[in-house]
Amino acid sequence: MRPIRIFGDPLLRRIAAPVPDFDSSLRRLVRDLTETLTDASGAGLAAPQIGVGLRVFAYVVTDESMEEYGTMGHVVNPVLVEQSAEAIEDTEGCLSLPGLEYELARPGRVVAEGFDQHGEPLRIEGTERLARCLAHETDHLDGVLFIDRLDPVTRRRALQEISERVVAGEDVPVKRSPHSGLL
Ligand SMILES: [Zn+2]
Repeated sequence: MRPIRIFGDPLLRRIAAPVPDFDSSLRRLVRDLTETLTDASGAGLAAPQIGVGLRVFAYVVTDESMEEYGTMGHVVNPVLVEQSAEAIEDTEGCLSLPGLEYELARPGRVVAEGFDQHGEPLRIEGTERLARCLAHETDHLDGVLFIDRLDPVTRRRALQEISERVVAGEDVPVKRSPHSGLL
């Protein structure tokens, strides 16, 4: 398990590099991501969130709409190849922004292509929570956070809330309580 980087960490704003080799260090990274995510009771975690600037994320999503990809997995070098025009509003949060949750519209259906840790091609079709997770985690790999996608008024409120917390000294890393459903 590795500490989760919190908003303000410059790595969260950098574009992550493609994974060049499907070797044992990649498998260790996938294991660390999965264990850290499970420990935090989150739904998704991208490598930059644990301090690694590579294009990998892990997810643990329970959603009735899912079939073969079930509850958990990972994707290396993901590309969102399809995103439905129809958007769904739902609550969204992030393990790197503890305590902040906002309603955010995301595509209702997303298809991601990439590779598993052994280099085998992978295609994941997600709807609802999994679609949201695939979009949120791929954003992380491009240095984009979910608050960037809020409308300007809500975004200002979110930034205000963050700065109030920093002033109050509450910006402590996530490690203490379950954050069910956070991405
Ligand atoms: Zn996140």
